[in-house]
Amino acid sequence: MYRKKIIKLVIGTNNQGKVREIKKLLPKRVEINTPKKLNINSPRETGSSFLENSLIKAKYFSNKTKQICLADDSGLEIDILGKLPGIYSARWAGKNSNFNLAIMKVYRELKKKNVNFNKKIKCRFVCALTIYWPNKKYYQSQGIVEGILSDKAKGINGFGYDPIFIPKGFKITFGQMLFSKKSKIDHRFKAFKKIKRFF
Ligand code: IMP
Repeated sequence: MYRKKIIKLVIGTNNQGKVREIKKLLPKRVEINTPKKLNINSPRETGSSFLENSLIKAKYFSNKTKQICLADDSGLEIDILGKLPGIYSARWAGKNSNFNLAIMKVYRELKKKNVNFNKKIKCRFVCALTIYWPNKKYYQSQGIVEGILSDKAKGINGFGYDPIFIPKGFKITFGQMLFSKKSKIDHRFKAFKKIKRFF
């Protein structure tokens, strides 16, 4: 099964920021469907890790569409917040996926801890990917990009928490970085590298 290159799949997310970024990682010849196009809502993410949640989504969308599914579960882990928002990264943005609210919550939580922004606030983006085949076989990978938190939101590129994340070795946030650069160093790219051979 794995010897056959994937030529058609559904991207298992209703997050359009992720759809955009995953599409750019896939070879152009791969035919792509999305749950939005097929009018399918997302399942509840009841897992306790990124890997578990990406499997829940990949299995769910594959079962619904009878297609191969590539699903991503990702988020921002802030060490001083006990790795929160972590798997709750999307949920911190509320029902309307308002990331201004999620970012405000991050700073509110940091304030509660009397965080000193002169010190580096270590954090990382984690991405778990699952490819799920209609015959119920699946393959998973994970990628991580380490960084520090910006003292305020900067930049308008990307999505989610990009404006507050400064990747290690850089002085600008993902929100200030061109996608062509982010996409060569980020968690999703690193996780994708490990499953590239299926495409
Ligand atoms: P979920 O995987 O659908 O539960 O959502 C993960 C959440 O993590 C997203 O909604 C974003 O807020 C955040 N996230 C994941 N990857 C990135 C990224 O590359 N940039 C910014 N935020 C991200």
